[in-house]
Amino acid sequence: MKTLHTDIAVVGAGTAGLAAYRAARAAGKRAVIIEGGPYGTTCARVGCMPSKLLIAAAEAAHAARHTEPFGVHVAGTVSVDGTAVMDRVKRERDRFVGFVLQGVENLPAEDKLHGYARFVSNTVLRVDDHTEVHAGSVVIATGSRPAIPGPFLDLGDRLVVNDDVFAWDTLPASVAVFGPGVIGLELGQALARLGVKVRVFGVSGSLGGISDPAVRQAARRIFQDEFYLDPDARVLETKRVGDEVEIRYIALDNTERRERFAYALVATGRRPNVDKLGLENTTLELDARGVPAFDRQTMRAGDSAIFIAGDANADAPLLHEAADEGRIAGENAARYPDLQPGLRRASLGVVFSDPQIALVGTPHARLPSGQFVTGEVDFGDQGRSRVMLKNRGLLHVYAEIGSGRFLGAEMIGPSAEHIGHLLAWAVQQQLTIDQMLEMPFYHPVVEEGLRTALRDAQARRVQAGARRAA
Ligand SMILES: Cc1cc2nc3c(=O)[nH]c(=O)nc-3n(C[C@H](O)[C@H](O)[C@H](O)COP(=O)(O)OP(=O)(O)OC[C@H]3O[C@@H](n4cnc5c(N)ncnc54)[C@H](O)[C@@H]3O)c2cc1C
Repeated sequence: MKTLHTDIAVVGAGTAGLAAYRAARAAGKRAVIIEGGPYGTTCARVGCMPSKLLIAAAEAAHAARHTEPFGVHVAGTVSVDGTAVMDRVKRERDRFVGFVLQGVENLPAEDKLHGYARFVSNTVLRVDDHTEVHAGSVVIATGSRPAIPGPFLDLGDRLVVNDDVFAWDTLPASVAVFGPGVIGLELGQALARLGVKVRVFGVSGSLGGISDPAVRQAARRIFQDEFYLDPDARVLETKRVGDEVEIRYIALDNTERRERFAYALVATGRRPNVDKLGLENTTLELDARGVPAFDRQTMRAGDSAIFIAGDANADAPLLHEAADEGRIAGENAARYPDLQPGLRRASLGVVFSDPQIALVGTPHARLPSGQFVTGEVDFGDQGRSRVMLKNRGLLHVYAEIGSGRFLGAEMIGPSAEHIGHLLAWAVQQQLTIDQMLEMPFYHPVVEEGLRTALRDAQARRVQAGARRAA
């Protein structure tokens, strides 16, 4: 067993870990980065990038099939070549992974350790059985993995998670998707558009992370028009029959059905990779999921010299948050014990379904009751959206009654990835609805729909204010 002394040990060479390592080195400290699995990051290998590549192919197929209303006729039928689709997904994915690998390759060899790290104490880690690392401070950046409910395990190799989908050489004939969260919704709709028979089953009505009941209901109707989706599914039995998965369920029309699928894609959530870290050997206080209590401004866990960043802390499992948290953790690990709060940005989530979903600022479910108004636009009659035949969706914007401050928004609709950014920037700038309405709106654009919602919020705020005064 080798012993290695360093200022900072970073566990995990994903997005958060690499950002932490770079910040620690930029602060002039010695740092080692320990990776147990393949290099390349979850985002590039099996997350953000391959999923968006699959969605891009699906959107191309969908657009090709929906030209008629414009008077544009495509001769013959649109066919999807599953092998070519997966070939491009993997080729382009490998290109993105290649850039990450190049970055890792360029790190000094003495700063990289390969193997799984476990805590022996707060500042001592054992890497597999070959190295003991003694560090001044430690950054946990171990990411997350799919959480698979026990009963699915009986499906053997017919059970797949996102990683497996991006390893396919061609598209299967049918897939049952469990979990219409962000990943299940994105992959389920993309596969359906690529000609795969898809059924999406959820529990308790949740859909794409939307917390506003009206927006969620709008999303449910829109997706149900296109593919089989039951967010409140009553699945009676899931079993393996030969090389297939047989599912018995009560369908949306209340009839009992029995159907077979090539695969069950389980996207029922992700769990932070903290369970095999030996955290019981540290002084950290753990919550029910085994995640240490930590400060979101400094990323410090408890009052220790341990920091935790990215999906591992289960706070905001998104790429840009992992990068920010990693940098803050690395900077503070280098400054320890003289910590500084890092920049935390306004909350922004995007689901790359079609229409897209954007979630900005304070979620509807966490708004202070009685203190806010909701402004609304239905995209059904929105000019620019109708021009493009993308006139489906609903946007809700939330404003504080007293101050007029813009608090957040939830939407499903056209250009949500872009409108979501405008709105997140407004939240971060702490703008009021009045100030937002002072900004330019071009014509004809989808953002005019946003203006309608903001004007609606403003009118409701005035009414609510008048009611309060009366
Ligand atoms: C299908 C899918 C689509 C997604 N799409 C988006 C999107 O569009 N936009 C977005 O913002 N986010 C998206 N995400 C989320 C995003 O990918 C993650 O939030 C981000 O990659 C997390 O980065 P990380 O550094 O925390 O973890 P990772 O990149 O997973 O890095 C963790 C690393 O730690 C290593 N490790 C674990 N345990 C140990 C140990 N004990 N010792 C040593 N090494 C260890 C792992 O091998 C891994 O390499 C998506 C995720 C998935 C799965």
